[in-house]
Amino acid sequence: MRRSIIAGNWKMNKTIPDGVALGGALADDAARFIEKCDVVLCPPFTAIKAVADRVAESGIDVGAQDVHWETSGAFTGEISCEMLLDAGCRWVIIGHSERRAMFGETDDTVNRRMKAAVAAGLKPIVCVGETLAQREDGLANDVVRRQVRGAFAGLSAEDASKAVVAYEPVWAIGTGRASTGEDANAMARVIRDTIAELYSRDLSEAVRIQYGGSVKPGNMAEFARQPDIDGALVGGASLKAADFMGIIAAMIDSKE
Ligand code: PEP
Repeated sequence: MRRSIIAGNWKMNKTIPDGVALGGALADDAARFIEKCDVVLCPPFTAIKAVADRVAESGIDVGAQDVHWETSGAFTGEISCEMLLDAGCRWVIIGHSERRAMFGETDDTVNRRMKAAVAAGLKPIVCVGETLAQREDGLANDVVRRQVRGAFAGLSAEDASKAVVAYEPVWAIGTGRASTGEDANAMARVIRDTIAELYSRDLSEAVRIQYGGSVKPGNMAEFARQPDIDGALVGGASLKAADFMGIIAAMIDSKE
């Protein structure tokens, strides 16, 4: 049985005090959910250390929203795996569609980040997902297969098993227009089949897959009920403790 995992992508939101307050509200309630569900908070870089310190001992993990593949040097504006570990991260989001669309992320740079992260001991949440035009053109499965193959290229089975894959259709992110549970599960199956081709059926059944895209407390159960969906990557609704708690509760209730 795969363990549920809910992650919050705070994007470019929350100052240090606001982030500590949000992390603290969740940490103070963690006893209610942490035995049944992994919870990962991904603040902006500036708030990682303070949030990690505040949630320490609660069982909640902290992750970053991106990482560079080089270990150090003249890479102005970039952050290394060692720096993230040093700040208290255990996870890192890689290949978010906003980075692919706005900051030149490619399958190749996603793959470099994946390799660097697992080598350093950071667990990747790697994002894949098609645009609306790609879905309308019947290309969704091909696009996601290509992104999965690109992300995992050259990773050993052991390293691949540490990753979580977040299926995030681009048209569902921040739009209020979530996928249906059925469609999201169908794509989760495509992702598992691709991982099985790359490695083995056993590994593909062990990898955890999240759905992301306009997840709210009110629609989480639809995704959590799907057999191939093990959690969610949550943007907007991760910014308020009550909403994020509602999503965690829906995840746990639906899997019981
Ligand atoms: C995201 O950015 O990963 C995301 C899923 O955003 P939202 O939940 O706001 O759609």
